[in-house]
Amino acid sequence: MDDLALLVDLHIGNDRQGPGSDAMTRRALSLAGLSPDPSLRVADIGCGTGAASLVLARDLGCPVTAVDFLPQFLARLADRARAAGLADRITPLAASMEALPFAPESLDLIWSEGAIYNMGFTSGITEWRGFLRPGGVLAVSELTWLTQDRPAALEAHWTAQYAEVAPASAKIAALEAAGYRLLGYFPLPRDAWMAQYYDPLQRGMADFLARHDSEAARQIAKAEAAEIALYEANAAHVGYGFYVAQRL
Ligand code: SAH
Repeated sequence: MDDLALLVDLHIGNDRQGPGSDAMTRRALSLAGLSPDPSLRVADIGCGTGAASLVLARDLGCPVTAVDFLPQFLARLADRARAAGLADRITPLAASMEALPFAPESLDLIWSEGAIYNMGFTSGITEWRGFLRPGGVLAVSELTWLTQDRPAALEAHWTAQYAEVAPASAKIAALEAAGYRLLGYFPLPRDAWMAQYYDPLQRGMADFLARHDSEAARQIAKAEAAEIALYEANAAHVGYGFYVAQRL
């Protein structure tokens, strides 16, 4: 099994594939200022197994196009949507976030939790803007420095993983430069990382290693453990910011 297949196997059974929580999805949704309306058009980009898609479809009462490039995650999302009685509102779509098939100005809301980094924040907010109608809303969570002074090892790790990691002020400036007005920002709390994301991953790790007796699987487990330890030691300095902004 290659690394991608191993990562899919490690993550597919969990409710989330990145930090976040239903409560924080709802907090960001309240900043978006949209009322439930079946005529809204919403896309969840990099949806994974669909934690946010399910909340959006339920709370807004509208169709949600759930986009991911991994069909395995979309199949799990379809199962979850059926179980939640939301299958008629959620349309899974296998596509790259860098080549979305939406018509210009066709969406009222673009949602993306823990995924825009795959194409880079600046590219994502710039390219996706064209799919929003003027006045439409973008809500994204993104790796963010929470303090000015950071341990050098922490800075080195995350800068190597993601060159665009930056303080919220820089992310907000990028949104303004790209033609958005900020509606709100908040950092995700620690439990959105630990209780919602890392703890379930850790609980599944022994079974994962039992399923895959390979060096590649052991390397993945080691890297996850190192990332979790780094986060736990530095949660004051680094986290996800949730940015909600309106297209001008
Ligand atoms: N939003 C989900 C998943 C976050 S993990 C959650 O918060 O739980 C990031 C997701 O982005 C993964 O599901 C991954 O398959 C997807 N992804 C990564 N690169 C992508 C790309 N280029 N196009 C579409 N989806 C992508």
